[in-house]
Amino acid sequence: MKILVVNAGSSSLKYQLFDMDSGAAIAKGLCERIGIDGAVTHKRLGKEDYKAKADLKDHKAAIELVLHLLCDPQLGVISDAHEIGAVGHRVAHGGERLRTSSVIGEEELRYLESIVEINPLHGPPAISGIKACQSVMPNVKHVGVFDTSYYSTVEERAYIYPIPYELYERYKIRRYGFHGTSHRFVCAKAMEALGKKDAKVITCHLGNGSSITASIGGKAVDTSMGFTPQEGVPMGTRSGSIDPTVVTYIMKKEGLSPDEMEKLLNSSSGLLGVSGVSSDCRDVLEAQDKGDKRSKLAMDILVHYIKKIIGSYVAEMNGLDALVFTAGIGENDGIVRDLICSDLSYLGIEIDNEINLTCKRGTFTEITKKGSRVRTFAIPTNEEYMIALDTYSLIK
Ligand code: AMP
Repeated sequence: MKILVVNAGSSSLKYQLFDMDSGAAIAKGLCERIGIDGAVTHKRLGKEDYKAKADLKDHKAAIELVLHLLCDPQLGVISDAHEIGAVGHRVAHGGERLRTSSVIGEEELRYLESIVEINPLHGPPAISGIKACQSVMPNVKHVGVFDTSYYSTVEERAYIYPIPYELYERYKIRRYGFHGTSHRFVCAKAMEALGKKDAKVITCHLGNGSSITASIGGKAVDTSMGFTPQEGVPMGTRSGSIDPTVVTYIMKKEGLSPDEMEKLLNSSSGLLGVSGVSSDCRDVLEAQDKGDKRSKLAMDILVHYIKKIIGSYVAEMNGLDALVFTAGIGENDGIVRDLICSDLSYLGIEIDNEINLTCKRGTFTEITKKGSRVRTFAIPTNEEYMIALDTYSLIK
């Protein structure tokens, strides 16, 4: 069976078509500048990419084009859209009610619409992506796979903020966690390697957005992101956790509105804010190597926060079996992995730098030093495959 995975953004739609017999993505691509001056990139295994301008007035036009490309005699990989058994949708936020991957019917759509207020950036495009796909492919099931649902096992003490409880009841202000599909995927891979059912695992998804999750036996017990993806470690342009009074103080001093303040914390902070150079870790490391002091400071802060969270999760779980790195920085950057893992030997974390600094990108690599109590891995994440797997098992 073929499963189509769709990830709709406000002006983009990413897709991958999986053959579930082989587990391979047989085609993938990106429709971008939807509603502007549309363009599409369509890729197939072992063949040249197809790139073109396209008239994409909305998400419906985008998914129609995707189906057309997938079934095209020259560019396609299937002969008929009926070969697609189901569609899996990446949805960032499932709120409190959508706690597992679910078939999306009218009730689920209504619920997703009701929580747009707490998910204003990612909610509306995900909903229009699902509606568009449902209207173009009405005869197959559409499954929502939520970034938040991996955290349905987190206990209240870890997700309720210590603010007046009525605010949680009134507005559902609580920690939700994000990147759950990625953490679930790499944690499962590490558990396979460990062969231990109740393994205590810390997964570090370090990319443009970063989060760290603690899991026991493949179930999340805590995570660094909270009510929004703003909480936790510093990121490319996001501050991560800071004293909340800093926020109100800056607003008063600079005369900023709530929206302007949110923008400052979301788009002008993190690596970019401290270094003043870039939000991209590679640029910041390069500037640091050339002697730029603020770039070094930005990297030092990043590593400092990550170490603190790792330490706190070891305390929370009373132990650790594996530490996992994934996403753009986590998978590719041996230098950052080395900085994070150095001086963690008290916790049993020691890595072999000969392997760590030379390991091949995009491959599952164990970087544990011989004799280390905790095993450490760099594992490529594959959220799309996880979405396809969930979709497949739900409709089976
Ligand atoms: P992501 O959001 O997962 O795509 O990750 C983006 C981040 O990964 C950026 O900060 C990049 O600098 C970083 N990144 C991507 N590729 C590499 C690489 N080969 N070496 C170091 N960092 C990388």
